[in-house]
Amino acid sequence: MEDVCTECGFDQSSTPAADVGPALERTATEVADAVRSVPLELLRRRPEPRTWAPIEYLGHLRESMAFHRWLIEQAVAQDHPEVPMVDPDESVAAADYRGADVEDLLGQFHRRVMRLGAHLAALPPGAAACSLTLGDRPITVALIARSAWHECHHHLGDIRRPGGL
Ligand SMILES: [Zn+2]
Repeated sequence: MEDVCTECGFDQSSTPAADVGPALERTATEVADAVRSVPLELLRRRPEPRTWAPIEYLGHLRESMAFHRWLIEQAVAQDHPEVPMVDPDESVAAADYRGADVEDLLGQFHRRVMRLGAHLAALPPGAAACSLTLGDRPITVALIARSAWHECHHHLGDIRRPGGL
């Protein structure tokens, strides 16, 4: 849950939540283009045993977009709720994305990005300051929104890497 990342060069710590939706949608389009550009023989292959295949990064992002929207809903609907941390490695392994249809996943990812963007655009005044505790860390709606964008930006690099794009 970050809005500054030295690894991928992302720094949107001053971007207001209201501006995140359109930017997220643009980055998500780049993700979809990158996935479609990965050579078929590399799409489902892990470069190393502990590094996800490109299609697994897409599956993770599909989950991540729904999770971020759900977190924002919880933070706005309740008074600083506590939400347990999730393990992305576990859920990606359980979903078996390497056996999934890539166009199905791209469609689901796109719909979840659009839903998250619409949700951000419709946030009531002051909602960006609503907060929750994820694991042991207090976070605001504004950070959750920027973090969703960072997820796409960060994994765009992971998806491009194995194909050398
Ligand atoms: Zn990053």
